[in-house]
Amino acid sequence: MTDCVFCRIVAGQIPSTRVCEDEHTLAFMDIGQVNPGHVLVAAKPHVENIYGLDDALAAAVFRTTARVARAVRDAFSPEGMSIYQANGPAAGQTVFHLHVHVVPRRQGDGMELTWPVKNPPREALEQNAARIRAAI
Ligand code: 5GP
Ligand code: ZN
Repeated sequence: MTDCVFCRIVAGQIPSTRVCEDEHTLAFMDIGQVNPGHVLVAAKPHVENIYGLDDALAAAVFRTTARVARAVRDAFSPEGMSIYQANGPAAGQTVFHLHVHVVPRRQGDGMELTWPVKNPPREALEQNAARIRAAI
């Protein structure tokens, strides 16, 4: 996809600051740097989001994510590490080529995710789990 910015980065058609790569994935510095050491792990083939990952590509993306997270931990000694991956505009995705954010964290660094828990009754958990099981 020539109009996809991450396809162009993978192909080397536009500049990026690369961290590592293998057959299936490319890790490079996020241009926005929420915190120093913020890395993106992208699938090499154009896959829009998590729904397009086959098992081999899903495994490769998470293997590289874990490898990069360990390296960022060793290089920056953060207090924590957030792994963030968005699918669709409602989830905050802005580049529609599968990628995972590796973001080193410090207390009070300003990166926030509100987590509006509902604490539903067990019955609701059972009903919703049944719907998901039926779709697997
Ligand atoms: P999303 O919101 O889709 O999860 O994240 C997209 C990320 O891609 C953003 O954090 C943004 O800073 C990063 N980004 C967008 N365009 C470029 C680019 O051309 N180069 C790099 N290195 N990162 C980019
Ligand atoms: Zn792409």
